[in-house]
Amino acid sequence: MRYREPVFRPPSEARSYLLHVTYGCTHNRCTYCAMYLSKKFEVRPLDEVLEDIEEASRQMPDTRKVFLLDGDAMSLSTKRLVPVLEALGEAFPYLHRVGAYANAVSVLSKTDEELAQLRELKFSIGYLGLESGDPETNAKIVKGSSIEEQIEAVRRAQAAGIKMSVMALLGVAGRERSREHAIATGQVFSAMDPRFASCLTVTPVPGTPLYADLEAGRFQLLEPDETLEELRLIVEHTHVTGTIFRANHASNYLPIGGRLPADRERLLQTIEAAQRGEISLRPESLRGL
Ligand code: SF4
Repeated sequence: MRYREPVFRPPSEARSYLLHVTYGCTHNRCTYCAMYLSKKFEVRPLDEVLEDIEEASRQMPDTRKVFLLDGDAMSLSTKRLVPVLEALGEAFPYLHRVGAYANAVSVLSKTDEELAQLRELKFSIGYLGLESGDPETNAKIVKGSSIEEQIEAVRRAQAAGIKMSVMALLGVAGRERSREHAIATGQVFSAMDPRFASCLTVTPVPGTPLYADLEAGRFQLLEPDETLEELRLIVEHTHVTGTIFRANHASNYLPIGGRLPADRERLLQTIEAAQRGEISLRPESLRGL
């Protein structure tokens, strides 16, 4: 099992077998993202992928979850993904699910039949970074797919049985568009109706355009109370049928989570209590930054 560092995976894939099927990200231009700046996008040769699966099946025969690396494994054609998923199914008798980061354009490049075929082969969770539902912010952070494309991608994947986990970034719109960003993000979560939704807090990383903007005074980081207000607005404007909502990432000031719509009032009350100073926020030293 060979890795080309750095390697990233969602927190919920902590126990998964991580398998490179690509290196880097097809897009690699989001202004806040430094994850794959050191890697040029490449498709990994199939024979190498199959060798790794064979080795993993010897070392970890009880594997139940697999996460396909790197930043947009769904960009692989169905023709490339199917032999990988088939090999995983043969190698791991207890295989329960396969997941990957999934950009909207990559999901939309597949037909409904192809998505259903991938689901049949246990590809059952995709992680999509919406970051903001605000079209102006979406353009500014160079997300690479429109809000409409992202909504359609989530809805089509889920219609095929692939659960989607959608992430938003508190503070990514800066101070000026904070309110528009938060309201629109809640509205887009509503339109997507994803199985999982989460909020992280933006952390400008040296080497990224966002960091350069911060240094030059073109971008302002939000204060903790402003970040809480974004979180409150997002929850208030999210109207979904059954979503597990989390804002407990290490980057967040107030770790909360629950089910929407069932826990809406509790979540809002917790955020409002924090806004009144009745709940302590995570200090910088514990925010994992
Ligand atoms: S699509 Fe994802 S991995 Fe690629 S640059 Fe944007 S945030 Fe980073």
